[in-house]
Amino acid sequence: MSVTVALAGNPNCGKTTMFNDLTGNSQFVGNWPGVTVEKKEGRLRGHKDVSIMDLPGIYSLSPYSLEEVVSRNYLMNSHPDVILNLVDASNIERNLYLTTQLTEIGIPVVIALNMMDIVRKNGDVIDVKKLSQELGCQIIETSAVKNQGSMEAAEAAVRMAQSGKKTVPQHTFSDRVEKALAEIREIAGNSIPEENSRWYCVKLFERDEKLKEQISLSSDKASKIEGIIAACETELDDDSESIITNERYEYIARVIKDCVHKKRTGMTTSDRIDHIVTNRILALPIFVVVMFIVYYISITTIGDIATGFMNDTLFGEWISPAAKSFLTGIGTADWLTGLIVEGIIGGVGAVLGFVPQMLILFVMLCALEDCGYMARIAFIMDRIFRRFGLSGKSFIPMLIGSGCGVPGVMASRTIEQDRDRKMTIMTTTFIPCGAKMPIVALIAGAIFSGAWWVAPSAYFIGVAAIIISGIILKKTKMFAGEPAPFVMELPAYHVPTVKNVLRGTWERGWSFIKKAGTVILLSSIFVWFASSFGFVDGAFGMVEDIDTSILAVIGSAVAVIFAPLGFGNWQSAVATVLGLVAKEEVVGTFGTLYAVAGDALGMVEEGDFGGLSNIAQHFTYLSAYSFLIFNLLCAPCFAAIGAIKREMNNAKWTWFAIGYQCVFAYTMALMVYQFGLLFTGAGFGVGTVAALIVLIAYIWLLFRKGYDENGARLRAASAVRS
Ligand code: GDP
Ligand code: MG
Repeated sequence: MSVTVALAGNPNCGKTTMFNDLTGNSQFVGNWPGVTVEKKEGRLRGHKDVSIMDLPGIYSLSPYSLEEVVSRNYLMNSHPDVILNLVDASNIERNLYLTTQLTEIGIPVVIALNMMDIVRKNGDVIDVKKLSQELGCQIIETSAVKNQGSMEAAEAAVRMAQSGKKTVPQHTFSDRVEKALAEIREIAGNSIPEENSRWYCVKLFERDEKLKEQISLSSDKASKIEGIIAACETELDDDSESIITNERYEYIARVIKDCVHKKRTGMTTSDRIDHIVTNRILALPIFVVVMFIVYYISITTIGDIATGFMNDTLFGEWISPAAKSFLTGIGTADWLTGLIVEGIIGGVGAVLGFVPQMLILFVMLCALEDCGYMARIAFIMDRIFRRFGLSGKSFIPMLIGSGCGVPGVMASRTIEQDRDRKMTIMTTTFIPCGAKMPIVALIAGAIFSGAWWVAPSAYFIGVAAIIISGIILKKTKMFAGEPAPFVMELPAYHVPTVKNVLRGTWERGWSFIKKAGTVILLSSIFVWFASSFGFVDGAFGMVEDIDTSILAVIGSAVAVIFAPLGFGNWQSAVATVLGLVAKEEVVGTFGTLYAVAGDALGMVEEGDFGGLSNIAQHFTYLSAYSFLIFNLLCAPCFAAIGAIKREMNNAKWTWFAIGYQCVFAYTMALMVYQFGLLFTGAGFGVGTVAALIVLIAYIWLLFRKGYDENGARLRAASAVRS
């Protein structure tokens, strides 16, 4: 008999870790809620007929957040054979709240008491036998990260499903509520299924709209039930939903008192670390320093050495010359040799050259995430974002977006408020994703000769762009309003596991390598053809001088737009536009163009970054930084635009988001370049005036009095009254 086991539990209790352990799968384990928004299915290792479902983390079965809806619908409609309820033992009180609900829905429940390693380390004791009796479920102690107990728990769940036994909820509500529930049961009769009638009655008592839609109650019955609820509410002086919630918590408190013995030790190590890193004053400076070090190490120091080797030695000195002499040796046509060496090796190689830097960055970001630090940052940012009307929940998509914007944008789904979600979707891609790293590394290395501040500044420009946008947008009528409160479980710190870090790094890094072989390859071939052919004396053919190629002609026309930003050369214009295909293609384009222009073999003598260092001839410090800002902030690649479109689910909003990003990027780069010129003594011109106007506009947008939702409502109300 085939069995389906549903893994259910609070966010961050270790479901995905256990899922991976049970299935041998490698789903991404995130250290914050909302990573598993969709359910995922896998087969239990060694049991062909047992499938495991990883459900999104939820705090309750009330259908408020998307995760709750997904999990609840799955449990109610697909009716898995057994629920393996993961309970974070180090946070047992809050976790059992869900358990009390799961045991009511009529599906057998087995509890995996996870994170037992933490409980033991803290010296706390849980009387598992007693707990099991009180809850009416079998309990297996587990520690999913240490691969302890997961298999036993899953096997116990399978046995439970096969035994055909039922889980009977042991907790009862107060007599008054039980009376109401019994009356509701009486009236509802056979409108609700017999096997989980208790769940339906409780939900009817809570006035759960979604559930009411599913069952067809006559209006007569419905109004009788409403009468029962109202009577109970008057007697207990509270609304029905709160009555149920409070009684559940009272019950849990009793159970905990009986079964859990906490050792009073004061602060744990984790608390002590938190005392410093989430300190009101120190938290932000510490975060800045941490991110600074991460970007500095991965791009400027170790990463630079690795990338230097890849670009200069591997592709520059070994692969390109070898390929060229081999192709010439076997008598390949000149144009084909050009295509392969300059176009493909030049373009794809330039992108692959930056993979080491990306991987080092990802290793560090994954380690920070896995140990629990990043979850704290969401909290720290909540304090800051709240002042601008955003919540810490908006920061989670941005954290994920530092790998790739596509999952980043998708993670915004967990934000319940529509306006805050839209705003987060619009701003998430400001954070430099992995694919923008080559651009940052190229500018930092080839133009600023590895100046220490360039790479970290890219990250902080992204954060600043989000904050500035947050302030500006929140003042408009479209986005005004208080953000929802931000609740999140903070896992105890732990040493990052090699497995998790490598898995996260691989997952993020692999897609870039894959892209290099597909999108970047095709784009490089396109760039090579377009930059090698053109019209010479009225006839179409290969051009001697790249500046007469079709690409140069088209690029020059586009470049006019970028001239006020300081990079009005056709190469940069082409690279920027092709960046829409994939952000790595900005570097890929330069790779091909300089290989074509400078004959691939000449690259070696150019110093760092092989032929890419030729980029320096087109830029000053100022225009290079402006180029960097524009490319970091403008519309993301097509894949991310697609994600924005999916999440917005509305063409107008999608265009608004893309338009906003481009205008924001353009105006920021304009100000940096024009004021930079002014301060370096290059004089005052039309551009300076334009930048001044932009600056004044921004100051107004930032400091004007915002739209006041409450005020508007009051005004409307008084208008109606008068
Ligand atoms: P999910 O949100 O429920 O899917 O939780 P995850 O599987 O993503 O895990 C959240 C965090 O808890 C990760 O950092 C895990 O490494 C960590 N974790 C999971 N299980 C355990 C455990 O048994 N002990 C400890 N100490 N940490 C765990
Ligand atoms: Mg998960």
